Amino acid sequence: MLFCIVFISHFLLFAFLKEAVRLPDQTNLILIFINLGIFATVLELWFPRKKDFKPTKFDMSLNMFFLAFDQFLLRPFLGIYTLFVFVPFLQKTFMVLHLYQLWRSSWPFYVQSLLIFLLMTFSTYWAHRLMHIVPLFWHFHRLHHVSQKLNWFVTFWNHPLHSLMIFSFAMFFPILFAIPEPILIYPILITVLVSTLNHANFKMEPTSLNYFFPSVLEHEIHHSMNFKEAGHNYGVSFLLWDHVFNTYKSPQQSVTEEVGVKGWEGNNQDKKRYTLFVLRDFIWPFRKLK
Ligand SMILES: [Zn+2]
Ligand SMILES: [Zn+2]
Repeated sequence: MLFCIVFISHFLLFAFLKEAVRLPDQTNLILIFINLGIFATVLELWFPRKKDFKPTKFDMSLNMFFLAFDQFLLRPFLGIYTLFVFVPFLQKTFMVLHLYQLWRSSWPFYVQSLLIFLLMTFSTYWAHRLMHIVPLFWHFHRLHHVSQKLNWFVTFWNHPLHSLMIFSFAMFFPILFAIPEPILIYPILITVLVSTLNHANFKMEPTSLNYFFPSVLEHEIHHSMNFKEAGHNYGVSFLLWDHVFNTYKSPQQSVTEEVGVKGWEGNNQDKKRYTLFVLRDFIWPFRKLK
């Protein structure tokens, strides 16, 4: 229930900011994100789902590092990458097909938003699934899985190569079809809201909304230390493609004992060494696990 309340209230707040305050969409997104972070932190303190998932001061130093890296370094880098590398590359390789002519800007705004949301979640579903299947990709995706606690900060525990791959898959169709930026704003908003909430450690009762929009109960299965169990619920913000490609698992079908990565050398180490292991994985993720 809390998932629905926080999700819907932030969605409506964004719609209000967009229509009534008329700040740039990017500014509205940042405001919503700050609000969501405050909400999630307070809810995790007041209604913790698992008491042992509460971050220690060592966890918090990592959390702040990954959050700051994501927001202040990675985001500007991805902007430059899109402009100078990704768009010219797609223009050279795919634009000759003139696929953008298939997209009609005369279609209603919400139809275009829904269609592009379906395409973006389709491509990121496969990017995420490939990261679990292809060993090279798993090396830089595993950082997202090494934390043995889930809280909303874990959303940002990502290696830059992971973020680059997810971002490239997510933006493939929007660039291919030359989608105008305003059409992307609600798909991006939903992705930010759901992917942050489904790492948060506050009590969430299952609701029918979670059949498509995963809460922490669905996403925790994906973070299971059991690698076979982790091969489910690849959709971080939308589970339709897991239903279609038969990788969906409901919380009723599965009990996640532990989250994390088996054999990862940071496990069971003292807190200081654990922090160093995580940072080492961030700098060089291509080491083999014992
Ligand atoms: Zn994963
Ligand atoms: Zn996750």
